[in-house]
Amino acid sequence: MINLKKITAAILCLLSLNQGTIFAAVKKEGSQMNRADICKKNYEMLFNSTWNPNVGNDPEMMEILQKYIFGEVFTVGNLDVKMRELITVTSLSVQQTLPQLNAHINAALNVGVKPLEIREAIYLCAPFIGFPKTLNALGVLNEVLASRKISLPLEKAGTVSENERFVKGSEIQTPLYGDEIAREMQGLPDNVGESVSKFLTEFCFGDIYTRGGLDTKTRELLAVCILTTTGNNVTLKSHIEGSMKAGNSKETIAAAIVQCLPYVGFPNALGALRVLKNVDGENKITSDFKQPFKFGEVNPYSKYFTGTTYLNMLCTKDDVWNSSIGNVTFEKGARTNWHKHTGGQILLVTAGEGRYQERGKELRILKPGDVVKIPPNVEHWHGAAPDSTFAHISIETNLPNNTSIWLEPVKDRDYK
Ligand code: MN
Repeated sequence: MINLKKITAAILCLLSLNQGTIFAAVKKEGSQMNRADICKKNYEMLFNSTWNPNVGNDPEMMEILQKYIFGEVFTVGNLDVKMRELITVTSLSVQQTLPQLNAHINAALNVGVKPLEIREAIYLCAPFIGFPKTLNALGVLNEVLASRKISLPLEKAGTVSENERFVKGSEIQTPLYGDEIAREMQGLPDNVGESVSKFLTEFCFGDIYTRGGLDTKTRELLAVCILTTTGNNVTLKSHIEGSMKAGNSKETIAAAIVQCLPYVGFPNALGALRVLKNVDGENKITSDFKQPFKFGEVNPYSKYFTGTTYLNMLCTKDDVWNSSIGNVTFEKGARTNWHKHTGGQILLVTAGEGRYQERGKELRILKPGDVVKIPPNVEHWHGAAPDSTFAHISIETNLPNNTSIWLEPVKDRDYK
């Protein structure tokens, strides 16, 4: 008798295969496919050869691992098969399991991952695991590409000139991580911390994160996988938060960690999932923070701020009202850099507890209902209290001749 359910499931599988998505949907819809069937489909898509676990000197181990990875792990989470293979290549690069890396670089290419994307995933490993291992992984990539008659070297993907490494690196690093590392590295002998913090900004974020081939969101998801593989949970926590700020949901990060699981083992994967579980939600402005206006988007001027802030423009500069008004929301501890406005600024405090200070003057504590009149060209900063979310309306005055001039971040010792 024809099993209609089975046929439907198989058709759904083929459909999802063509779209590059994976079999989770089929399974959830009550598919009759068992893990061997799913494994076979996935394996044959990835490796362009018929699935037959009964070969080689250890057919039993191959069957255990293939059914588990391609028949089960591949059905968990919302990742497409390209991302799964990019994650696998990244994790294997970190682990230096080079024969398996060779196989999965081929699999990644077979399912449509671009050579440049694979190279960039491996370049991304350098700041986390150092250059020697990164070079080993690149060696394997280049062997595979040469064997597939892809001409080497691949196109260049650097975007940053020698004198803009710090500035361009900061533009990516600051919105995601603030000045966390610079602050932690203060007070070391001979100021080595200053050098190390500068290397991080210039090399990791300036040389690597600015490159083409992968966007920041993908790089941050892969960074989580790199750290899940190495098991460095302190750095992992910070990168899970950065990954979420870069636009990855908790669900996607969980799926990426599970994709690493069969390659790194349970202790590291469980450790990473524990860290993920304890990280706050997508943004820290929770529903218990009441303010009259919507908090908007992550502040596009974040490079001039410490910590995370949000901006909702209520009125943009135009010829009718000639006015620019925005709602700015600061997470706990977040604040502007020192700066001045050539036409001045008025702040109307709407929620939480905040701080305001003019250069050389006493710190002022701000509460809802307070009005701060900032004269033109007076250097100042404003932001949240260390333990309170904060929001104010910002009114730019004396338009159209009002420019903001941004200066250095407010040092920790000046921020209370
Ligand atoms: Mn201001």
